[in-house]
Amino acid sequence: MTVPLYNTAVFGAGPAGLSITNYLRRNGERVLLIDPNRSLSQPKGSPAGMVNPSAGRKANLGWCHQECYLALRKNLDWLCNEPGSQKLYRSDGVIRPAIDEDLAENFRSAFREQKWPEGWVSWLDPQEIRECIPGIASNHGGLFLHCGLTVYVKEYLHAYLGKLTKQGVEFLGDNVSYEAGESTYILKTDQKKIGRAEKMIVAAGADTLTFPEWNDLRLDPVKGELVIYRNQGPIPWNFGISALGYVLRRNSDLLIAGSTYERNFKDRKSSEEGARQIHKKFSRILPGLSEKVGKVDQLAGVRATTTNHLPVIGPHYQQERMFVFTGLGSKGLLFSEYLASLLGSAILHNTEIPEVVSSLRRGAMIY
Ligand SMILES: Cc1cc2nc3c(=O)[nH]c(=O)nc-3n(C[C@H](O)[C@H](O)[C@H](O)COP(=O)(O)OP(=O)(O)OC[C@H]3O[C@@H](n4cnc5c(N)ncnc54)[C@H](O)[C@@H]3O)c2cc1C
Repeated sequence: MTVPLYNTAVFGAGPAGLSITNYLRRNGERVLLIDPNRSLSQPKGSPAGMVNPSAGRKANLGWCHQECYLALRKNLDWLCNEPGSQKLYRSDGVIRPAIDEDLAENFRSAFREQKWPEGWVSWLDPQEIRECIPGIASNHGGLFLHCGLTVYVKEYLHAYLGKLTKQGVEFLGDNVSYEAGESTYILKTDQKKIGRAEKMIVAAGADTLTFPEWNDLRLDPVKGELVIYRNQGPIPWNFGISALGYVLRRNSDLLIAGSTYERNFKDRKSSEEGARQIHKKFSRILPGLSEKVGKVDQLAGVRATTTNHLPVIGPHYQQERMFVFTGLGSKGLLFSEYLASLLGSAILHNTEIPEVVSSLRRGAMIY
């Protein structure tokens, strides 16, 4: 029996896998997207994620911040143009209150010295921050990132997957094994041949390490937890808040607070200790609210981080038809679309991948 021939099989339907699938599809490829943990009917993911191109204690602008940001905005707008689409994000900005003297010094120098794109940032004095966010900690003023976004991750990923399948991408929510044939990868579920693919892209986040070809990739899995709180009354602001942790508003009375960073973890489940740590961060940022909120849910996940804190994209050093797209750390939303355009263009048009994000960069693999 003949089975379908795909140009590409993409393993993983998180931000990375969806973005590269979209790039290849737009460029005329037949793509099979595979993810045993996703489905077309059941949205999964965090209720909200932050997009903040100047994250971290130093508030420095990140790698290719403008290209990444514009690529994401374009994609959000493309998805939101779908008739009947839900709201997928808010663009009210992110406030970074300097709640201790170290942060204040960092934020002031970032405000003065970083090359901010026009309209991205302004400085708020302590009184202005208190007016924007009642209940905020005492602070030394802070940054207002007008470009900051709150993305409804669960809805975003679900809308993205749905749109791709409408546009002709085939999706399989199943475990798929593969073996390298002479000129194609043979794809199987339960020992049954289901298709062939000319090339393969592994975009499986931290689980990329479970693919034998990529288990010597230098990836550092870091577990993180989030807590969802319900406030006793309506929340009178729409911004995201980022200080020594972050707080996002999901709707009139729900707040998402994160996150923890755990390198030596035994399992991927949420924990009491995670909830305790997050509540501590939440209380430092919003002491005026910490007694008024109640936990309604808690989530845990694993980020894939790398030694240079940048993603890793490109070919396998020995198999020219095998590619990787991972290492997005805590910035999967911001990074995925732009990186997909770099990886897709390298695959289809032989363009060069910048050394700092290349799978062939020094130190990317343990060999
Ligand atoms: C607590 C927490 C908070 C975060 N907050 C933010 C935030 O506010 N903003 C932000 O931008 N980022 C945030 N992140 C990071 C963000 O989640 C990641 O950067 C992003 O998910 C990485 O995308 P990815 O597609 O590389 O990997 P993932 O999202 O992990 O997707 C990988 C996919 O591969 C699938 N997969 C695994 N094995 C296989 C296999 N064998 N075959 C096929 N598919 C497979 C998995 O099911 C999964 O769906 C947070 C992460 C955590 C843990």
